This record gives sequence, C-alpha cells and structure tokens, in this order.
Amino acid sequence: MALIVQKYGGSSVADPEKIQGVARRVVETAEQGHRVVVVVSAMGKTTDQLVGLAQAITPSPDARELDMLLATGEQVSSALLAMALQARGRAARSFTGHQVGILTDAAHTRARIQRIETEKIARALEAGEIAVVAGFQGVTAEDDITTLGRGGSDLTAVALAGALGAEVCEIYTDVDGVYTADPGIVPEARKLGRISYEEMMEMASLGAKVLQARSVEFAKKHGVPVHVRSSFKPDPGTLVTREDPGMEDAVVTAVTHDRSEAKVSILRVPDRPGIAAQIFGTVAEQGIVVDMIVQNISRDGYTDISFTLPRGDRARAVGVLEEVARRIEAAGVTYEDRIAKVSMVGVGMRSHSGVAARMFATLAKEGINILMISTSEIKISCVIEDKYTELAVRALHEAFGLGKERGGGE
Ligand code: ASP
Ligand code: MG
Repeated sequence: MALIVQKYGGSSVADPEKIQGVARRVVETAEQGHRVVVVVSAMGKTTDQLVGLAQAITPSPDARELDMLLATGEQVSSALLAMALQARGRAARSFTGHQVGILTDAAHTRARIQRIETEKIARALEAGEIAVVAGFQGVTAEDDITTLGRGGSDLTAVALAGALGAEVCEIYTDVDGVYTADPGIVPEARKLGRISYEEMMEMASLGAKVLQARSVEFAKKHGVPVHVRSSFKPDPGTLVTREDPGMEDAVVTAVTHDRSEAKVSILRVPDRPGIAAQIFGTVAEQGIVVDMIVQNISRDGYTDISFTLPRGDRARAVGVLEEVARRIEAAGVTYEDRIAKVSMVGVGMRSHSGVAARMFATLAKEGINILMISTSEIKISCVIEDKYTELAVRALHEAFGLGKERGGGE
C-alpha cells in the first residue's frame, strides 16, 4: 500500500462535473489500496478573477490582503472535492494550508515554505480518510495567510509528498505530459517518457507552463519523483526524475518558448565602474526580476545596455530607469514588448558540441534575426522578434530531430 499525492490543476476542477471526474479518479486510486492525499488548485480561472477584483479596488493592493483574497480560491475547490468524495461513500476531509500547518516566511504572494507539519494529515489517513489540501497557500508564524507564487499548488503537492515520504507526486493537468515542444505549435512534438529534474527546471523557467519552476527545484532537492499526466486520460505521462546516463544520448531534449517578456535598453551609457550597479540596483529595488542582460562593446566611452524582464513589469522599470538615465547622463531608455525567447534545453549539451552553432544556423536559414543570446550548461536561449516565434520553434524542432524517437535524432 503506497502513499500517493495527487495534484489537480485549475482546469481539472473548473466546474462541478470536472470535480466529480476528479473524485472518481481519486476513489479509483484509493480502491487500489493506496492512501491518497489530494492537492487542488482553484477552479478554472478563479485566481485571475480574484486578482482582477483586487485591481478593480486599487492598482496596488496590499500584499497581505491580496493573499487573504487569493487563498479563498483553493478553499472552495478543496471543500467541493471533499464533498464529492463523501458523496461517493468515501471518508474525506479538506484542509487549508493553515490547518495542515504549511509554515512559510512572510514574503506575501511569493512565500517560501519553511516547515510542514504532517500530524493532521497522518491522522486523517490513519482514520481511513482521503485528505484534500488547498494548494498554493501557507501561514506565517504570526498566523497570516500567505501564497506561494502563481502555479504554487504544484509546490504544495511536491512539498507534501516530500514531507510525507510519498512514493510519487502525480500532477494531473490538461496536457498529458511534457513535450519536446508546444504541440499547439509543433504537431510532430513528442511526449517525453522521462526527463531530468534539471531539464524540467530549465524548461519551467524558460516558458513551459506545465510545472511551477520552484516545485521542480524542491522535487530535485528532496528527490521526489513527479509524474505529470492527464486528468482526462488514463495513459502514463512524463516522469520527472533523477538524471540517468541514457538521458545524455540525445543532443537536446526540447525546445521551449516564452512570449511573456519585454526588452528594455538604456542608450549611450557612460562606460565606467558602478553604472551597471546603479541601473540594476534601481530595478531590483522595485522587486523586478531581470532575466537576460547584454552590454554592447564600448565605443568612445559609451555603451548600450539591454535586458529582458516580465512584460508586466516593463512600464514600471522604464519609469524608474528614465530617472536613472538622466542622473548618469545616458541618452535615453527604449523598450520593445514584441519579443520572444526560444530556447533549446538538454543535458546532452554537456557532451555534444555545436548545438549553439546549429541553433544559430537554423534561425539564420529562416531569416530570423537574433536580438540577444544567453547560455548555460544545459540550455541556449535566443531572443527574437515575437512574430517569428512559431517559425523558429518549428524549424528548431525539425533541425534537431526532436520529433523522432530519442537517440534517433543524431
Ligand atoms: N490558483 C493558483 C494560480 O492560479 C495556484 C495554482 O493554480 O497552482 O496561480
Ligand atoms: Mg498550474
């Protein structure tokens, strides 16, 4: 008899029928003799709607109150699922993050889990109940409700699986696994049977929306096997797990894209020590997380500095940087919202050379100009004009043979 943590995303609990479907699936698992802990997201687009409500009151809601509001979404879905399980004759009990004892720091809207108390859940399981936990939320030492960042129910599930020593953390979602590219763009994209934590972490932070990046980081740190699979189909999905030697056989594992960023440039910046610190210090003070940074070669004592950031933060960043530009006597600040980042990811890059060259050649052949480049040990990212995103993703998927069976690509 195994202990299994199952997490169902917003689209899987979007309406009463879907909640009944989830209940059916949970009961099936329990009937196989497993103990089950279920973590749920808020129904459908509830969290977005709650954010919208707050915005309708004030453009900059207090973070504590925002968490108080956002946490209600998961309280609704967890109670409804517990009712659906009981209606099927199963003992079940719902818990908020607070009731479970998911203790976090006080960084509202992006709190970090510090400790998880397992007694309440253990007691419920002992009593033969199915424990249904509201995802995405925790509580501070001062009893203030916190949330774990968008997509944070994944983290709740992985962290609970780690704390309870569960055999596996199953993430049920509206896609049936992790693909070599977005199947909406590349029809030949292939579902991966297995993927390493490291690759999944890169993919999640490079725009693949299937798992929250922080949850993968946590899974890696605590060795929690994560199985991403469909809520609506019985087939196995993708296992996110420790890297094994076979994984390096493929040159690259997947191509991802991210259309959520913008690019900001500060023009003709005096090239002297301390300037970058002033620019990025100011951006950091705003709580804005910068992604890629490029500084051009200095000419006659001046240089241009460009960087990417979440598009939603672009207006605020440009606002404060115009001030900085005046102070340091730069020529001005420009921005571009219509950019996209396409990335190749794979642990195979450690042992295969020429991936970057082939990526650049593929984009060149399609006449796509590269605006920025960044690399790490297992990924290469290029920023391009947004209108070329589909073309770039398809061309790269084809050039690296990702549609074929693993190992057959080279
Ligand atoms: N409901 C939250 C969100 O939309 C958490 C989650 O779905 O994982 O971000
Ligand atoms: Mg999600």
